[in-house]
Amino acid sequence: MSSTADAHAPSWYADSVPDVAVHAPLHGDHVADVCVLGAGYTGLSAALALAGRGYRVIVLEGQRVGWGASGRNGGQAIVGYGCEVDTLERLVGPADARLLFDFSRDGMRLLRDRLQRHQIQCDWRDGHASVPINARQERGLRAGLVALAERYDYPLQWWDRSQLQQQLDSPRYRGAMFDAASGHLHPLAYAQGLARAAACAGAVIHEHSPVLRLERGTRPRLRTATGSVSASHVVIAGNALLQGIAPAQEARIMPVGTYIGASQVLGKARAQALIRNDMAVADVSWALDYFRLSHDHRLLFGGRASYSALPPPGLRGVMTRRMHQVFPQLADVGMDYVWGGLVDITRNRAPDWGRLDPTVYYAQGFSGHGVAAAGLAGVILAEAIAGQSERLDVFARIPHRRFPGGRALRTPLLVAAMSWYKLRDALW
Ligand SMILES: Cc1cc2nc3c(=O)[nH]c(=O)nc-3n(C[C@H](O)[C@H](O)[C@H](O)COP(=O)(O)OP(=O)(O)OC[C@H]3O[C@@H](n4cnc5c(N)ncnc54)[C@H](O)[C@@H]3O)c2cc1C
Repeated sequence: MSSTADAHAPSWYADSVPDVAVHAPLHGDHVADVCVLGAGYTGLSAALALAGRGYRVIVLEGQRVGWGASGRNGGQAIVGYGCEVDTLERLVGPADARLLFDFSRDGMRLLRDRLQRHQIQCDWRDGHASVPINARQERGLRAGLVALAERYDYPLQWWDRSQLQQQLDSPRYRGAMFDAASGHLHPLAYAQGLARAAACAGAVIHEHSPVLRLERGTRPRLRTATGSVSASHVVIAGNALLQGIAPAQEARIMPVGTYIGASQVLGKARAQALIRNDMAVADVSWALDYFRLSHDHRLLFGGRASYSALPPPGLRGVMTRRMHQVFPQLADVGMDYVWGGLVDITRNRAPDWGRLDPTVYYAQGFSGHGVAAAGLAGVILAEAIAGQSERLDVFARIPHRRFPGGRALRTPLLVAAMSWYKLRDALW
């Protein structure tokens, strides 16, 4: 068993993976080709890709592998990004938007390929449904489906209410946009599998090694309390947990708290009756509900966004009520676990991947869509470090703006935005 200091953030995920040995903290001054800050999907994916290309890679993680969003998320691996293709077209034009969308399909292929190639056991299941709760959302999803089919050659299915109810035993939704290429997985097991693959490829991972400072220059250096790494290139993959290491970059994302619960064990028959085809499901509201079944026959149910890093009061009750609203037949079922994490939202919800200077690369701004995309980000950063920057250059053309006023003022702005979106979801 892990000691408390070595433990993962508490969750059903942490309790459902085997204990893995802690990677020793960094001690002393080291030299590498690439030093990666952060052992979530972005950092681990970059480390795996770079080590596979023969680079000497050192990963510095402040806590444990998968400590951040990568070990806590809803596990829904979805093609696309946090914004719609219409937004990408507006930001970068139709040609680049098409490239970006096709890259996201590459990201899904990469994920599936890595699970096989590296024998990552993370309980992958096929299928994802986006479900509308009102007429406005249904119109939006149907228009999105047509746009993706006609302009992006991406096949999706529309299910009306009765077709959906053959798969999903909930009265709440008007239909579904079903994507057979997307799916779901155990997020922490996936992160641990990536770490194992990166270590096998030669990357050195140090846990419990928070980076205190980035020294930029032709040979950038990352410093911890007990050591440092100087390298030809640095990858900043600290996401919403990065605090003050790269302030200009951090100002372009808003950390938003979001929460998940794991129900009591339902038993096989009762669980399967809820989602017969075992797909992942998400509605399309601002403070969305998203859910799927676990391998031990629980319902994993996510939702409830918050502007504070602290868990909202009464969280377990709120999450349980939301679950009952979707599945009234679970009125006798409570939540065994609830936990939360931070998502990294950009102002336009588009991904923010690029360079701070010629030696420092970063990826952030997954806006709640990082399970598949963050693995892709790591590979695209690795390609660019190896001199092939065509794909990164397309991402770097997406314009991004700071949230005004730093952390303190970003919060009230978000509260106002969330209230408006919640009201809109309730009314139309
Ligand atoms: C509750 C929740 C549900 C979500 N659900 C979904 C979903 O269903 N589908 C989906 O696609 N996306 C989802 N997401 C988003 C997705 O999890 C993220 O986009 C993705 O995991 C980002 O990966 P990352 O590697 O960039 O960041 P992270 O996983 O956050 O990793 C960053 C790492 O950097 C480390 N770090 C930070 N600062 C330092 C420092 N100074 N020194 C050393 N280490 C540092 C952190 O400890 C952390 O381990 C969800 C997120 C949350 C929080």
